[in-house]
Amino acid sequence: MTYRVIPLVQAGVGTVDTGGTGTSVQSLPAGAVRAPDMAEASAANMTHVANMAPRDVRGRMLHDLRISVTDRCNFRCTYCMPKTVFGRDYPFLPRAEILAFDEIVRVAKIFSQLGVRKIRLTGGEPLLRRNIEHLIEMLAAIPGLELTLTTNGSLLAKKAQSLRDAGLQRVTVSLDALDDSTFRKMNDVDFPVAEVLRGIDVAATVGLPVKVNMVVKGGTNDHAIVPMARYFHGSGHILRFIEYMDVGSSNGWKLDEVVPSAEVVRRIASELPLQAIDPNYVGEVAERWRYRDGGGEIGVISSVTQAFCSTCTRVRLSTDGSLYTCLFAQQGHDLRAMLRSDCSDEAIIASLQAMWRVRSDNYSERRNANTPGLQKIEMSYIGG
Ligand code: SAM
Ligand code: SF4
Ligand code: SF4
Repeated sequence: MTYRVIPLVQAGVGTVDTGGTGTSVQSLPAGAVRAPDMAEASAANMTHVANMAPRDVRGRMLHDLRISVTDRCNFRCTYCMPKTVFGRDYPFLPRAEILAFDEIVRVAKIFSQLGVRKIRLTGGEPLLRRNIEHLIEMLAAIPGLELTLTTNGSLLAKKAQSLRDAGLQRVTVSLDALDDSTFRKMNDVDFPVAEVLRGIDVAATVGLPVKVNMVVKGGTNDHAIVPMARYFHGSGHILRFIEYMDVGSSNGWKLDEVVPSAEVVRRIASELPLQAIDPNYVGEVAERWRYRDGGGEIGVISSVTQAFCSTCTRVRLSTDGSLYTCLFAQQGHDLRAMLRSDCSDEAIIASLQAMWRVRSDNYSERRNANTPGLQKIEMSYIGG
């Protein structure tokens, strides 16, 4: 599947926007500094990044990079990769078009200079990418980055230990129901829920902190809201409920299948009393609620009923190296062409700064009766 991508404009090739301070990429503190200089060097590095970090037209910074490491998946969740579209003949990306690990690591290093502090590996199903642990090891060596991964959990029991050993800091497991028949229907490949639950247990046992994401689709799995809350209450795992979104163009999204987060909270609170709590940081996507009995917390992500575009600091890198500044984008920016040419890091940085500075994305604020019909990029390709 080819999506519309535009070339990244080679802004200020050979130079780096210094924010007017005269700082240059070459003046980054060298990796090896004398011990007494460490604090000073680290402060200098922070100032350097602050000078490099662009803001978009609404003043939003770049903070999170989501990397889709494969467009393939072993599930066919009806809300994401319905079989009618992602069938046997679906043209998944050929290997030559997929970014190699060293290309991904180069991108991550470049983005860390632009202010990115969090990287999430996703897909498709990221645990299907061969030697994913090796990529994790390479990314974990970049200082100052939080490294997480989102998975459907099907291979987690097998891989949790090696992911943890490679340096993964946290894992988010998607789980849409506890009853086997609903779960099998939603993944549409007859995968048993017990194996995902086992994956969550193994991850916790090897010391990998787990969050659980449940997409709530009215009439399909909303009966599972309260059982899921009960199951994870007191487990130490934060369960987050995500409003079903009109991502891509193939899931046949309808507004009346969205269960508003307010309704999710109401249903849970009627059995397990809840209290709203402050976000961990400005711009946190999930709204947090704690159980009044001390059984932990849940989160709700209200992408449809309460748009959070005003604080959106995310950029997405597709499997084949295009950048998308919004989950609902209709076109991407071709970074791979620059990576596979003789462009310097400085030239790429300047282009990314230019790309981000003109960003005005706010799809969720503009969503209306017509927007779901737009040709949008599929989530499995762009990365959820
Ligand atoms: N395969 C992995 C997984 O399922 O966790 C990672 C990729 S998946 C695209 C990332 C996240 O997007 C999952 O938590 C999934 O539930 C969510 N997602 C996919 N389609 C969605 C939709 N239409 N609305 C809301 N969330 C969706
Ligand atoms: Fe695969 Fe994740 Fe999409 Fe489900 S949500 S089809 S597991 S990529
Ligand atoms: Fe960010 Fe786009 Fe989602 Fe708004 S709609 S929160 S800009 S990804």
